[in-house]
Amino acid sequence: MVRVTGASFDSRPRRTAKSLMRDPRYDILFEPVRIGPVTARNRFYQVPHCCGMGYRYPSSSAAMRGVKAEGGWAVVCTEEAEIHPSAEVAPFVENRIWDAQDLPHLKALTEAVHAHGSLAGIELVHNGQHAANHYSREVPLGPSHRVIDNGAPLQARAMDGTDIANLRRWHRKAALRAKEAGFDIVYVYAGHDMSLLQHFLSRRHNDRADEYGGSLENRVRLIREILIDTKEAVGDRCAVAFRFAVDELLGADGITAEGEGHDVVALLAELPDLWDVNVSTWMNDSQTARFAEEGYQERYIKFVKSLTTKPVVGVGRYTSPDAMVRVVKQGIMDMIGAARPSIADPFLPRKIEEGRIDDIRECIGCNICVTGDDVSSPIRCTQNPTMGEEWRRGWHPETIPAAKQRERVLIVGGGPAGLEAARACGQRGLEVVLAEAGETWGGRALTESRLPGLSSWGRVKDWRLGQLHKLANVEMFLASALTADDILSYGIPHVALATGATWRRDGIGLTRHRPLAGVAGAAVFTPDDFLGDAGGLDRLPAGPIVVYDDEGYVMGGVLAELIAKRGHDVTLVTPAALVSAWTARALDQPFIHRRLVECGVTLQLNCLLAGYASDRLDLACVYSGAPSQRDCAALVLVTARLPNEQVCLDLMARKAEWIDAGIRSVTAIGDCRAPATIAAAVFAGHRYARDFGETLDPDVVPFKREAIVAE
Ligand code: ADP
Ligand code: SF4
Repeated sequence: MVRVTGASFDSRPRRTAKSLMRDPRYDILFEPVRIGPVTARNRFYQVPHCCGMGYRYPSSSAAMRGVKAEGGWAVVCTEEAEIHPSAEVAPFVENRIWDAQDLPHLKALTEAVHAHGSLAGIELVHNGQHAANHYSREVPLGPSHRVIDNGAPLQARAMDGTDIANLRRWHRKAALRAKEAGFDIVYVYAGHDMSLLQHFLSRRHNDRADEYGGSLENRVRLIREILIDTKEAVGDRCAVAFRFAVDELLGADGITAEGEGHDVVALLAELPDLWDVNVSTWMNDSQTARFAEEGYQERYIKFVKSLTTKPVVGVGRYTSPDAMVRVVKQGIMDMIGAARPSIADPFLPRKIEEGRIDDIRECIGCNICVTGDDVSSPIRCTQNPTMGEEWRRGWHPETIPAAKQRERVLIVGGGPAGLEAARACGQRGLEVVLAEAGETWGGRALTESRLPGLSSWGRVKDWRLGQLHKLANVEMFLASALTADDILSYGIPHVALATGATWRRDGIGLTRHRPLAGVAGAAVFTPDDFLGDAGGLDRLPAGPIVVYDDEGYVMGGVLAELIAKRGHDVTLVTPAALVSAWTARALDQPFIHRRLVECGVTLQLNCLLAGYASDRLDLACVYSGAPSQRDCAALVLVTARLPNEQVCLDLMARKAEWIDAGIRSVTAIGDCRAPATIAAAVFAGHRYARDFGETLDPDVVPFKREAIVAE
């Protein structure tokens, strides 16, 4: 093994009490902000965000929000809370405040937030024509007769005067319940095209002829009434926030920051106690780093403060304290709103306050967090493996109990799984040796970060390396491709194999279960040929290139983009009905499709790869089997991966030698165990460290479950 540095790890500068001081440049971020009748202790504001836990996993939800408060967010909000059974979006798991039955778990949430001196906010919502009401079977409601926009053959019916009176009463009662539950900030919500109030505001959704339709003053009437209702109901003790999408990015078809977005702010300027402004839809609001840079919403929201004296909150995936100071000083916003940066690092404010800028675990803008909500499961995060696990596994993002014994651990592989396992084992006080075959750290977190638009993915590596370099009990070795012989010779008792995975070259993937004939010896490439220094781009022949994506996540689309940008004629073929289909769950699928079109990539959807012979592909329609052919100078197979498990298998085969070699456990983690996302690899590395030294019974559920109480 080659040492990373000749210096003793103990000789590195350690943090001193003096260095744990806030940089005065950031003082402005810690000024209190008055919001109506309440005061936030600083400018860090966790805006409402989904977490896939809500009403179904309330203890998990409360604990997660409590950790954000502990981490220094002065305001911590819930996700949207449906005010009535006619507002529900099952199967998505949001929050509910339908009646008193919801209060105990909401009280638990506010108490968890208050315990750390933060304010708790709740985003009341009626989802209007976005609510299919699959669970309640109520008739959906909207300003006009419209098809539900939530993938169901249902329609919302145009609300009459009684419906409007009902809505106002439901909202008012929900606000009173929110106050009873202890919330300090109660939202009125007109954003993301998911809110009935935004539907009323919208010219394309609202074709009413009464006092709620037509002119902007009429279309804004319901919002005004509900803001007034809410202030009258709870304004003595609670601030009333208005969440408003100032621009729908639809040009003349929608609200724009220069047009009606501006005018709505002017009309309602002083009515709410706080403006929480963003762009619509959620897809535009939470753009991935591939398509939007930090601060990407500033250009839309910057006008708001010129029209109101009330505090303004905005978002833009801010992780840099300098950028935060800038937006406050430039008068763009008063409070730094964050969903994703607070997920990736619940302790971001505390770290700035304590002068620990290097310790901030920056969001990479991948939207894996969004995918949890989209599959109605608890939130997960690529950077923060403890996200969603605060209650059920008792994981804290900053601390891990010290290991019971200071044992030695060898971690093989320096990708996301290995780096996180080494970091977390090091944090527990274990003596860690981390060995990486390559000349650089990071594994796929490094190589994939070099693909177009994915540079922020390198933060997975950067943060972990930064932390590892502070740990005297972790030794790190590059250029150390270990074999079973090597590992047996070291006598390190615990071995974690985080050796990653290799893309398949045989065509087996999601839809193909047998090897594809004709690939041996043909011009077949896999993603591994384009990652790191593999040089595949330089080896591509002239002529049409086909990228066959039978995986459906990021890789197929991003490789097609990469190759097309090199000037090749590229066709992306996929059995799926969408390009990079799974990215729809991360909100960026439409952006990927558009990017490929802009790059000149030809798209062939719903198409199976049936055969490959001498520069010609045989394809078949997924549904009819109808054959077609396509010229192909080179085929790039993006299908599936196989674990790099040879070292693991070799060690398992030599189990009889373990005792003499001093080995007690060998564990495969991350892609070496089962290829998955980077988020899954980080989680696996973290879990290895957490489980270290524990006696685990595979028959026992490894986490607490929320109680389901029968009536
Ligand atoms: P994961 O996502 O599970 O962390 P990666 O593929 O990103 O997987 O990382 C695996 C890392 O393991 C790569 O950097 C690779 O170079 C390294 N590696 C693979 N085999 C060995 C080995 N035998 N010895 C040391 N490092 C290895
Ligand atoms: Fe950021 Fe990705 Fe974590 Fe979401 S999952 S908070 S986008 S790092």
